Amino acid sequence: MAHITTNRWNPDTCDCTFDLDFDSDLPDDQRVVTLHDPTTPQWKRLWRGTTVLEEHQEAPAPLKICPEHAALTDFRVRYTAVLTENQRKNRVQSRLQTFLGVTPPPADATVEEERTYENHIKAFSWAFDANRRLDVRYSLGTRLSLDTQQKADFQALLDADAEIGAGKVRVL
Ligand SMILES: [Zn+2]
Repeated sequence: MAHITTNRWNPDTCDCTFDLDFDSDLPDDQRVVTLHDPTTPQWKRLWRGTTVLEEHQEAPAPLKICPEHAALTDFRVRYTAVLTENQRKNRVQSRLQTFLGVTPPPADATVEEERTYENHIKAFSWAFDANRRLDVRYSLGTRLSLDTQQKADFQALLDADAEIGAGKVRVL
């Protein structure tokens, strides 16, 4: 029997929230996450291991809608817009790591290796402009930054990337 559980998603790219349903009986790699209709009650379940001790439906808490997405009144349309922006930001961050040859530290990394990676993560920042174009920066004091040529090269790489979209991101 399927156990549909609802989780709240708070993207790090805006203040909107969404409820997502998934079948918690399925292993992680088979899970399909679907958008929960906020007008229907959601399932709350109390688990002990793989046993459901208690389950009941309750009205979902109101979703947050940020000012930038308030014009998108249909929650499905809003979700698609927010998900697209969130995935774009994540992809740009991933492309930057590839561009710079940065890899996450291994399990047996030294403190120094971990600190280097933490600084790399801290150096990446982003903001959306009024037209929801993603402006990205890579800078941590004077230690980490992209030079003019690197910015131009990374910009060209993003603009040519079909998953990112030409003109969707500006490297500052
Ligand atoms: Zn939003």
